[in-house]
Parts: sequence; C-alpha cells; structure tokens
Amino acid sequence: MNAKEIIKQSVEAKIDDYMAIVQSLYDNPEIGNEEFETMALLVDYLTKAGFETQAGYVVPTGFLGTYDSGKPGLTIAFMCEYDALPEVGHGCGHNLIAAIGVAAGEALKAVIDQYGGKVLVVGTPAEENFGGKVSMAEAGVFDNVDVALMVHPGTKNGVGGRSNALYPLKFEFFGKNAHACRPSEGASALDAAVMSFVQINLLRQFMAPHTYIHGVISDGGKAANVIPAYASLDYYFRAPNFAYAKEVAQKAEKIAESIAMANGTTVETSVYECPYEDTVINYKLAELLTEKYQELGLTDIEPVDEVATGSTDVGAVSYKCPTIQGYIKIAEDWVQGHSKEMADATISPAGKAGLIKAAQGIALVALQLLEEPETFAEVQKEQTETLSKLLG
Ligand SMILES: [Zn+2]
Repeated sequence: MNAKEIIKQSVEAKIDDYMAIVQSLYDNPEIGNEEFETMALLVDYLTKAGFETQAGYVVPTGFLGTYDSGKPGLTIAFMCEYDALPEVGHGCGHNLIAAIGVAAGEALKAVIDQYGGKVLVVGTPAEENFGGKVSMAEAGVFDNVDVALMVHPGTKNGVGGRSNALYPLKFEFFGKNAHACRPSEGASALDAAVMSFVQINLLRQFMAPHTYIHGVISDGGKAANVIPAYASLDYYFRAPNFAYAKEVAQKAEKIAESIAMANGTTVETSVYECPYEDTVINYKLAELLTEKYQELGLTDIEPVDEVATGSTDVGAVSYKCPTIQGYIKIAEDWVQGHSKEMADATISPAGKAGLIKAAQGIALVALQLLEEPETFAEVQKEQTETLSKLLG
C-alpha cells in the first residue's frame, strides 16, 4: 500500500474512535480555559496512539502530542480546537476540529518514518474567548513548525480565508462625584465617555476600507442624581492587518485623552481582551488543499475568502509559519455558526463524513510536502514574501 492509501485507510479504519471523541465532547462541552476533561481525553487518546504527550502545555488546558521519526525532516502541526460556547455547547463544532486534528496526526504518523520529520498534534484551547493560539504563538510553540494545518466545520467546503486583526481597548474615565444639582463641584466621567464615543465615531469617515470600530458604554454611572466619577467604554478596533488596527486604536486613545483633559477628568486605557492578528493567507497551501479535497471527491470548494469577517486566533499562528484553516461542510446553508443545530451536525452522518474528508485532506497535504521538497519550498517562499510585505 502506498503512503496515500495508508493515510486514507488510517482515518477510515479508526473513524468509530474519532466519532466517539466527537460525541464525548458534544456530551460534555467545556468552555474556553475550562476544557480540563476534554484535554485529558485527547491526551489519553494520543498517548495510547503512540504520541509523546504533554498536558497543560503553555496554557492550563493546552496540550502537545509529538511523534518524532528520529530522522531530519519537516515538522508538521495539526491544530485541535475544543472549546465550547455557553448555552449552545459545541455550536461552533470545535469537538469535530479536535477529532480531525487527532485523526490527521495519527494518519501522518503512520507514514512519516518513511520520510523523516515530526508530527505534532497541538491542543489550542479557548479559541472563542482567550485565544489559546495567541499564547502558544507568543511562547514559541510554532517557531520551529514548518506548516500548521486545521479544518473548521461549517456550511461550506473551503480552503480558508482572511480574518480581521482585532485590538480590544478599554477606556476608563475618572472624574469627581457631586450632587447632580451642584454639578459645578464635580467632573463627569460619563460626559467624557459620551464625548469620546461621539468623537471616535467621527473617525470612521477617515479610516481605510474594511476597518471596523465597535464600542459600548460598559459603565455609565449608577444614579441620575450623582455626577458619575467613573465611566468606561469597551471597544474593538478591527482592520485587515494588526498594525492598522492598532493605529486606529491609538487615534481613539488620543481623542479620549484630549477630551478628558478638556472636561477635567482623567482617562486610563488598557488592552482588556486578547488581541488577534489577521490571518496571513498562503495561496500555495490553499491550492494543495483544493487539490486534495477534489481528489477525495468533494465538490463546491470555495476559493480563499478574501473578505475578512470575524477574527480568529489562527492569525497569530499564521505569522509564525505557513498556516491553513480549511472548511468542511457538515450542515446546510441555513444552519447558523454558533447554534445548537451546528452542534448537532457534528454528531450526524454529515459530521462523520466531513471528519473523514477533512482529516484525510490535511494529512495528504502534509504528505505531499514531505514527498516534494520543491513544493514545500514554494510554500515557504510565499510565506517569507508575504510577511516581508506585511511587516516591512
Ligand atoms: Zn469556531
């Protein structure tokens, strides 16, 4: 049997085990940074499958599974997400992503001794809220990785897309309480917040396309009869790249500072959630995944989605090594992204079929890179060129 067949059969032969993982996570959904039982289950599976494993890797619910052929070669990482959402459980299908990563890792492990190199299965928790991949990327987990691969389930087959950089900034205004009928003795933190809110809105006209500002007044005082000494604004600044998102955030910071100065309050700003980088697209990897999906009989494969909508921590990885987050269709178009229906799709026959194709697809991309150094060189060259354009 050739390596391609070994990979395909590895996934198919163990599909019941993989679906048992999907079901078990579905039955016991754990939200970001609380995925301890999920991590234990995945680590246990990988250990039994012959990987060297580390639980609590970099972050409390992160893990690493390593299989080293002992011979020099590429390091291929398959990423597993496994955090759930409050109320809708695995409504984003991360239980399926976990099983896809494990299945792809096990499939590549079955052939990598022939080529040399290492297979990593990286457990990257808390995609929805704390950005596990950001912490891992910062800790250097992907510095020596040659390619990172994953597939997210959804309503379409696709080979990835852009995502927005996100810079979250909190503005806290500090004024002086006073009786509302003696306002001249106070300084209104709320007024500073409202004025800043309005002025930041006026920034929009002057921003580059596809930049978003969304903010809320997260604290506007507690009683109408009191001049508020405290008020706060929570903002997301999103842009096609991280540097620009930060630049817009800094303009907003200047606005808040000048307004606070003008009305006798002070302002403090803080990055209150995890900033996300945009996703760097590697078109060569996208082309390879398209070919594999086609070989596996998938149709209606969407090209790279050039219009960024949301933000993801995959972006952080994509700045460290060539990365792809493909998509696999497991539900009809009308099914929403974060819904109970999407969770149900992960344990359906379509979820199972998607798991097989997705795991085979990314494992076969990895195989081609192991077999053809010239193809890997193309992937790497594109990455270097794109990053040098982005980072200057
Ligand atoms: Zn997701």
